[in-house]
Amino acid sequence: MRTNIVAGNWKMNTTVEEGVKLVSEIVEKSKDLSNVKLIVAPPFTHIFSVGEKIRGTATGLSAQNCASEAKGAFTGEVSSEMLASLNVEYVIIGHSERREYYKESDEILLKKIKLALASGISPIFCAGENLAEREANRHFEVVKKQIEEVVFKINETDFEKIIIAYEPVWAIGTGKTATAEQAQEIHAYIRKVLSAKFGEKAENTSILYGGSCKPGNAKEIFSKPDVDGGLIGGASLNADEFIAIAKSF
Ligand code: PEP
Repeated sequence: MRTNIVAGNWKMNTTVEEGVKLVSEIVEKSKDLSNVKLIVAPPFTHIFSVGEKIRGTATGLSAQNCASEAKGAFTGEVSSEMLASLNVEYVIIGHSERREYYKESDEILLKKIKLALASGISPIFCAGENLAEREANRHFEVVKKQIEEVVFKINETDFEKIIIAYEPVWAIGTGKTATAEQAQEIHAYIRKVLSAKFGEKAENTSILYGGSCKPGNAKEIFSKPDVDGGLIGGASLNADEFIAIAKSF
């Protein structure tokens, strides 16, 4: 059985005070949710305070990134061990904004994933094609390579801890969404790629859709058999919208 997950990527939004208010509302409004796991990914600066608010609740705590080195002279970086010491359970790795703006290569992403796993943190690994690649019908090949270059290089036991997020870059923050059929097609393909390497274990991997997911389109997208939830950007900053998305299951 795989877990349905709705994860909120707050990106570089909210002050600590606003973030604590947001997570308090999320906790309050999600009390009757039982068929979906909620995760919030606030900025680093909020992790301690947000973590205090969700302690003892069913809501999971994620970071948006971690360093590609374990420790040492890397000014401004935050290690996976530091995150683990704040009870962080998940970390987003390979978000397209990190790949594009910070030039994070597959090699760097693999280092991050390995360090996160060594710290007991589950990676939420993002893969997805850009608009030119989709228009050239190269999306399958692009996503396969992103997965092969990173996820295929971890061992089977670690693979069980991985969550995949399919995030077409052309749908992130643009208001454009993949259709439910497009999402199902590529999610099923991703599961097939994963099963070629990890066999039956791929059946238990949660594969989330990300890209302008909103209360109005979540139900249809989540109804597809290989879509196990969503990684939500913009709509995760509003507790009502975030919970409405989670209630779409
Ligand atoms: C994201 O950045 O992971 C994302 C899916 O953003 P949005 O929902 O705003 O498109």
